[in-house]
Amino acid sequence: MAQHQGLDPHHFHTSLLDRVWIDADNGLRSKTTTLEGPIKSVDELKEWNFDGSSTGQAEGTNSDVFLRPAAFFPDPFRRGDNIIVICETYNNDGTPNKYNHRYSCMKTMEASAKSDPWFGLEQEYTIFGSDGRPYGWPIGGFPGPQGPYYCGVGAGKVFARDMIEAHYRACLYAGVTISGINAEVMPSQWEFQVGPCKGKDMGDHLWMARYLLIRIAEEWGVTVSFHPKPLSGDWNGAGLHSNYSTNETRAEGGMKAIEEMIKKLEKRHLQHIEVYGSDNDLRLTGRHETGHIGQFSSGVAHRGASIRIPKAVAVAGKGYFEDRRPASNADPYQICDIMVQTTLLS
Ligand code: ADP
Ligand code: MN
Ligand code: MN
Ligand code: MN
Repeated sequence: MAQHQGLDPHHFHTSLLDRVWIDADNGLRSKTTTLEGPIKSVDELKEWNFDGSSTGQAEGTNSDVFLRPAAFFPDPFRRGDNIIVICETYNNDGTPNKYNHRYSCMKTMEASAKSDPWFGLEQEYTIFGSDGRPYGWPIGGFPGPQGPYYCGVGAGKVFARDMIEAHYRACLYAGVTISGINAEVMPSQWEFQVGPCKGKDMGDHLWMARYLLIRIAEEWGVTVSFHPKPLSGDWNGAGLHSNYSTNETRAEGGMKAIEEMIKKLEKRHLQHIEVYGSDNDLRLTGRHETGHIGQFSSGVAHRGASIRIPKAVAVAGKGYFEDRRPASNADPYQICDIMVQTTLLS
């Protein structure tokens, strides 16, 4: 600032805005602009646009897609006053883009506000090395069968813990409501949990946690797969277990509300499967701690069911339940939207 003597240095305070959005394949994209900062909320930000024909989100002849700032997070990479903002995508004519599922989700959350829906999502994922194999797996062979890896401790049982730890810290810095991490059943598969979040925040926080993970993996030179069955054979798939509660289920005697919701969920099993991620048929086989994709089921402490009521909830007679069907690559806005539609608005 020395060269600007006599001027208020605050006039030269810049902050970097990283705009993030969801593309046509449930992937993430981002672009940065320099702003006069510091910025304290999304209301201070203007719309921006990108070339939608390069992301499969628009035709080349009408290619502008608009980015509307939606959710605000401090940037753990650039730090200082720099921010990351999740944006909703809109078409030229002002309608939400085909891949903007946040728009409908927010309407649903407004309509159900009196029930105060909460969510907690468990994001499972798999790390791949630059050679295209699961990270840390022996060259020319396979690790021993599943058993020692889930919540494992020690070399040969867990891989990339330093990266997972960095991701956890980055989420905390950004204000993501991350509530835990654990190593998963398949080696090099991990899980983080986000929640409980109010319905309107759940999707934003989960997408931001995904974004931070992909960015950190980039620094480590590895990739993150959200595919629900990244390896065929006797290896666990990856899900996005979705825990859910409302004022009614959390209240004294809430078990009755939970049972009523499960009845409604059973009637709309196929509609839910429709938005619970792609290639989920490869994962929901009825094996590897899943319920079969063609058959709705529920039970207390039952990890082979579509819906599991945690044992502690059954004992307390109130609380939440877990929908185990969503695949790891599902869009959390779509999950929250249909869950509330089915249980509260239908
Ligand atoms: P699991 O035993 O299925 O592996 P986890 O501990 O991984 O369970 O995840 C449990 C999830 O349940 C967490 O994401 C947490 O935020 C969520 N959760 C806890 N209580 C509630 C609640 N009342 N409503 C919604 N979600 C909840
Ligand atoms: Mn879990
Ligand atoms: Mn898990
Ligand atoms: Mn679970």
